[in-house]
Amino acid sequence: MAEELQAVKGMNDILPPESARWEWFEDKVRALMRRYAYLNIRTPIVEPTPLFVRGLGEVTDIVEKEMYSFVDSMNGDALSLRPENTAGVVRAAIEHSLLYDGGKRLYYIGPMFRHEKPQRGRYRQFHQVGVEALGYSGPDVDIEVILMARALWLDLGLTDVRLELNSLGQPEERRAHRAALIAYLQTHEASLDAEARRRLHTNPLRILDTKNPAMQAVVEGAPRLMDYLGEDSLRHFDAVRKGLDAVGQPYVLNPRLVRGMDYYNLTVFEWITPRLGAQGTICGGGRYDGLIEMIGGKSTPAVGWGMGVERVLDLLVQCGIEAPAPTPDAYLIVPDAQAMTDATALAEALRSQGVCLQMHAAGRDGPGSMKSQFKRADASGARYALVLGADERSQGMVAVKNLRDGAAGQHLRALADAGAWAAQLRNA
Ligand code: ATP
Ligand code: MG
Repeated sequence: MAEELQAVKGMNDILPPESARWEWFEDKVRALMRRYAYLNIRTPIVEPTPLFVRGLGEVTDIVEKEMYSFVDSMNGDALSLRPENTAGVVRAAIEHSLLYDGGKRLYYIGPMFRHEKPQRGRYRQFHQVGVEALGYSGPDVDIEVILMARALWLDLGLTDVRLELNSLGQPEERRAHRAALIAYLQTHEASLDAEARRRLHTNPLRILDTKNPAMQAVVEGAPRLMDYLGEDSLRHFDAVRKGLDAVGQPYVLNPRLVRGMDYYNLTVFEWITPRLGAQGTICGGGRYDGLIEMIGGKSTPAVGWGMGVERVLDLLVQCGIEAPAPTPDAYLIVPDAQAMTDATALAEALRSQGVCLQMHAAGRDGPGSMKSQFKRADASGARYALVLGADERSQGMVAVKNLRDGAAGQHLRALADAGAWAAQLRNA
């Protein structure tokens, strides 16, 4: 017996009717991007492994333990499924000299892959919407990308989302803080878990990002990076805060917000909801002025965010926000096989006028009884059934029956001028 084939653990099929929520969400995203004049970029799902090692940092959760990496058996290349898309977008921007004539504001939607323990809000294939504003150094663009996320929550009808904000300063400021942090953590070495001890000298800042509840007290008392920021960093942060204040966007200052990748500097932020438990961060991002140079381009400032689509959709469900169901306007009933040619012509004429029309599919033994066809018409959710019976056809007509407003009668419409009455079928 053949072994039963199933989707890979942590990777989900997205089926109708659930897929309608996805399409609705993606439509909202695309409309948002148009309003902010961000352009779509599509990069490969597979990239050279060194791109992520160099881009994200060697001592990060993603690179240490979450990447799907493999050797291309044809040529020995080290490849990885993308765990995130900032590095890929930056690689593409460098490779194609996208920034030769100034900044670019880009966005993407697509699958990412991380080998994590699957649980609610945490999958091995998940999806992100992301924006990357490349070539802009001012706090105005930090504000812009933060407000884009806010605009999306508004468009979707989401309210229970808070903004957390921090500044990571510049690398040299982080180095001074790092020395103080290591000294502090060393005096508390007994309370550190194995991972923290291992990272003590490689990436101590990351220890502040720990999810281990037993370490929260140590982390709470650690030296704050904010106290090590210089004048320029503080001025940038201040401008971001003032900009958010000016448009009435509240935020929580979170000095422990460090984000999972090494490439961030200055502004970092997360949008968090209390409604999704431990996986409450639905969007995270910040400035990454050093990344483009690190990947091999000219030093170029940049800022962006990534949003977890599964988590946002889960939040919509929690909030009772429904996507409109994609039901057809009309269902075309075809009582006998001889009517098939006329039926196809009518269906095409109506669809060309924008009517969403589902045509009854005949089996090998013909179209089936009227009763069973009406049942299917009803189940389709269509407002109207169009009946192309022999009588109607002989008069060059089709019967239009309203399936929703009680059992109100039907009326006849001419096959020859479907364009004239098609609009009456379209959903308002
Ligand atoms: P977390 O702390 O939850 O692991 P992260 O810091 O690793 O998140 P990012 O790399 O910043 O996440 O990715 C941006 C967003 O993508 C996250 O805020 C989250 O909404 C979503 N995300 C990240 N990892 C997953 C995953 N494994 N499954 C589903 N969504 C995810
Ligand atoms: Mg993570």
